[in-house]
Parts: sequence; structure tokens; C-alpha cells
Amino acid sequence: MQTIELIRQAKPAQQSGPAIVGSRVELQLLTTLRCNLKCTYCSIAEGDVRESQGNVNYSPEALDRFIATQLDGYDVYVTFYGGEPTLNRSFIRDVMQRHPHFRYQLQTNGTLLDDLPDEVLKRLSNILVSIDGGETVTDGFRGRGIYRQVLKNLEAVRERVDGTLTARVTWSSSDIGFDELAQLCERFDYVYFQFVAGEAYAAADMEKRKAVLRQLIDRFFASRDTLFPFIPIMGMVRNKVMPKRAEELYDGHTQCRVSTHILNVMPDGRIYPCPDLMHLPHMLQGDIKENWLRRSPLQRDPAMPCEDCEAFAWCRGNCMKNLYLAYVENDKNYREKVTDPICELVRFMGEEIDRHDPQAWFASLPLALRRQITDCEVYEYVEIMP
Ligand code: SF4
Ligand code: SF4
Repeated sequence: MQTIELIRQAKPAQQSGPAIVGSRVELQLLTTLRCNLKCTYCSIAEGDVRESQGNVNYSPEALDRFIATQLDGYDVYVTFYGGEPTLNRSFIRDVMQRHPHFRYQLQTNGTLLDDLPDEVLKRLSNILVSIDGGETVTDGFRGRGIYRQVLKNLEAVRERVDGTLTARVTWSSSDIGFDELAQLCERFDYVYFQFVAGEAYAAADMEKRKAVLRQLIDRFFASRDTLFPFIPIMGMVRNKVMPKRAEELYDGHTQCRVSTHILNVMPDGRIYPCPDLMHLPHMLQGDIKENWLRRSPLQRDPAMPCEDCEAFAWCRGNCMKNLYLAYVENDKNYREKVTDPICELVRFMGEEIDRHDPQAWFASLPLALRRQITDCEVYEYVEIMP
């Protein structure tokens, strides 16, 4: 694997079509690749990306020029990402001051959340806080005492935040149970989970995960006056009730935005569609310093199985990285151990949702809950599908 410092690519040939599809664009700015934790499953550890760069080294003027040239006319929203983005607070504050009309989101491990000044906290539309479930599993992956520290920080900032707080769960272990996931609803406005992209799907693990998914989905449909705020279930139900909504912000492509309108900007200014594939030179999509941008190279491919899949109308390709590695790079081990089991879990979720007649359930909801299902703003900030 090539290390990230060695490669500064020549500009690849322009692909046909606009660089950004649709009217909005998410600028995911990696403020630093440094992190104060060492989570065992960290996705940007792939290809030695983590810690390979320090803080942002392009100038504020270069970023302004890129925005004025490449993103003019788009509804721009910024996610601060990393590494741990709060390790570079001055950059966050500077971008917010230079672009006061943008929307902002923070993706953080939560350990330094209480150090952020009010002027930053108040501007955030959504804060995604990484957590793995309950105390045992979170501390097992992130380090002793992290779970309590994050919950303490959440309490400390709750009143200082105007936007939503969303738990971001990487569902890494099949020992994660229903209760610890459901309890996150007491601390957060929304819970988002994504199945870990690792070898965690042996037959016994699949059965355990399905049992928890069944409980989550049963719990979701048991309520008609309050929402059980699990984003992937909300999103799937929305997509089943209103299939066109699964397409509209993404022009029919994947709902994680990598094929249409998310730009992951590394601290050195290089741009990639997926934060997990920044170690692959051919995924380079643009450059802040050189001020260029092309269409995402991470697109659906005829080798991918989606169009023959029963879930396609509402799934739309889930994770393009997983499909790309399994079916385009043709990594058979990854396909069997990661991509295909996750697809099986996605289809299972669809079947479980159908058992509850989602159309009839949705029709019985009060208007405020229907609006949350159809228009939740957090759908714009996360992948919707797990
Ligand atoms: S479940 Fe898998 S194969 Fe089916 S549409 Fe989703 S990503 Fe594609
Ligand atoms: S869901 Fe999208 S952004 Fe996330 S790892 Fe997969 S391709 Fe990348």
C-alpha cells in the first residue's frame, strides 16, 4: 500500500457531467488527521491515512477561492471531520467566520466537546458523536473511561447547543444488544448506526444481529405518538412509503452522497469522495490548492449486483465503498466476509419493516411525526442506509 505522503497526483481526465449533482454540496473538511483516541476499527487507519498529516495546511484564501469558483450557487454545508476535528478549533472558528451563511455539522469522538466555545456550538446544525453502544463495548473499542467522559460532556453542552445531537454508532460487535442501543435515545435526539466494514459476520454473529434488528424494528413500529429516532429505520420506512424520496437528493445514486455531492477534503487540500478510500490515488477528485474538481469516480458499476436486488428501490446501493472493493476491485474475501453479509442484513431489515405494513403505520401518524419521517434534516448529514 502506498503511503499518503508519497502521492500528489496529476489532475485526472475530466469525467463527463457536472462535478456536483443536484443543488447542494457537503464540504467535509478534515481539520487534522491527528486523533486523541485509537479506536480499534478506525476506518481512516486503512492505508496508513490516520496521523499521516497534521492540521490543515491550505490557506483560508485558497479555500475561499475554491468555494467561489467550484461551489458558486450551491447550498453548501460543512462537516468538520478528522482525525478528531476539535483538535484544530481555530480552523473551525475561522471557516465559520468567513462563511457565516453556511450550515455546519461536527463529527466528533465527543471527548473534547465541552471545550468548544459557545460561538461554535451555537452554529452547529447537528453534532455526530461517535459511541459504540453501552459502556463495556464503547470502552472496549475506544479506551477505558471514554463512555462516561462522552456522556458527561454531552450533559455539559446540551443547553449550549441549538442543533441536534446524533449518536453515531459503528455496529462493530455482534454482542451489542438492543437495550444499550435503545438507551442512547435518552441522551441523543437521533441514533444513527452503520454496520462495521470488517470481518464480523460469521453465521452466529448474523443471527445475533438479526435478533437485535428485529427488536429495534418492533420497537419502532410499536409507537404512534412518539418517534423511536433511529435514522436508518426512519429512512428505510420513508423510502418504502415514498420511493422517489430515496432518489431525489442523489439523482438515483447512493444515499451516502459519495457519487453526487460530498467532498472529503484532506488537511493538505486533496479531495476524495469517500473518507475510507483516501488511500487510493485513483479516487482523487479535486484539490483545494490547485482549485479543480471533477465528478466523483466512485460510481455504480455494472459489476455491482444492485439492479437485480429486491432492495434496490429503497436501498440504492448502500455503501459504494463496500460494493467497489467487493465487485470492482474483485476482492472475493471482502465480498464474502463484509459486503454480502451487510447486504443480507439490509434485506432482512426491509423484510422486517414490511411485516409491520409501513404504509398503514405512516398513515396513522400525527402530522408532526410524519414530517420527521419524511423531512428529517439529519438525513442530509449521514448515509441513511446502514
Ligand atoms: S442490499 Fe446490497 S445488493 Fe441490494 S441494493 Fe443494497 S447494496 Fe445493492
Ligand atoms: S457509506 Fe459512503 S461514505 Fe460511508 S464508507 Fe460507504 S461509500 Fe464511504
